[in-house]
Amino acid sequence: MKRVVVAPGDGIGPEVIPSALDVLRFFHPDWEYIPVYLGYECWKRTGDALSPKTLDTLKKADLILFGAITTPPDPKYHSVVLRIRKELDLYANLRPVFGDGFDILIVRENTEGLYSGIEWQEKDRACTLRVVSEAGTRRIARIASGCAKRRRRHLTIGNKANVLKSDSYFLEICMEEAERAGISIDKKYIDSLVLDVLSHPERYDVIVTTNIFGDILSDAVAFLQGGLGMLPSANLGRHQALFEPVHGSAPDIAGKGIANPIAAIRCVSLLLKYVGEKPFAIEVEKAIQKTLADGIKTPDLGGTATTSEVGRAILQNLISIKKEETIDL
Ligand code: NAD
Repeated sequence: MKRVVVAPGDGIGPEVIPSALDVLRFFHPDWEYIPVYLGYECWKRTGDALSPKTLDTLKKADLILFGAITTPPDPKYHSVVLRIRKELDLYANLRPVFGDGFDILIVRENTEGLYSGIEWQEKDRACTLRVVSEAGTRRIARIASGCAKRRRRHLTIGNKANVLKSDSYFLEICMEEAERAGISIDKKYIDSLVLDVLSHPERYDVIVTTNIFGDILSDAVAFLQGGLGMLPSANLGRHQALFEPVHGSAPDIAGKGIANPIAAIRCVSLLLKYVGEKPFAIEVEKAIQKTLADGIKTPDLGGTATTSEVGRAILQNLISIKKEETIDL
């Protein structure tokens, strides 16, 4: 029995999360599901984007299924996503990207770096402090090395150590942890890394990098898998995990019912892996592949289906896969 907090958020979040929730409920109808209201719309209505009560509910969750949040460039508004990651200490952001001939896992440090939140404005300049701590780096390096050890035993460290002292430090610690784990490494400057991953994705296994570089890298690499509507992510802490699509609230398509729900449904697949139910996660992916092969796709993938049509088709395929598996004549 798990306590799952469901936070659809803003924009397309409330459009894609119902399809994901249907899939999760299919496997676990008896888990406790607690909806929460947070985000930019919540801020506009109540003056609070993340109330203390909602934060408390999130802190008590075993698992969180999260949609997306709008973050306007308004100095009075503070990012809810960054605050949740910090408050719950969800320090590791895992973003798998896979396709024909490649299978990459991006491991992004999630609580410090350029998103440290330490910022100030002076008379004629604004500053943001880029923090790379030993403890913060060691724990992300351990997660990345551990993942690589269970995969193809290779770690790429995305960095900009030629320019940034903070990245020399990040690199040094990551190398120590990789050596301890007995895996091979290579170091790559983040700018050339982005191009190389797009050109030769088959060369990569696990990539570890700092907060903003991981954010940019995973959006760019989404190109390999059909775009932002396809990529899930897991935010892991010591005792909790939050699953959210890599995409944002997509205000340009919100309300039209055409958002691709696959990233959100793949979040459920990651969640199932996280709780030790890999066979279920594989079934979800099979159902997604069957739906795509049948040509049931949202417009971002060149199709004409709506969000709920894709969601329903995936669920239906899942039910058929389960039936096939239990036929015993
Ligand atoms: P975005 O990911 O919302 O959208 C970028 C482009 O991808 C848009 O053209 C959008 O229509 C498309 N897209 C995204 N998801 C899609 C889906 N599921 N199906 C089909 N098309 C999809 O990024 P943005 O436009 O840079 O940001 C919009 C808002 O989202 C901003 O306020 C930003 O701060 C916020 N944001 C939030 C998160 C989060 O909640 N974790 C992440 C990124 C951006």
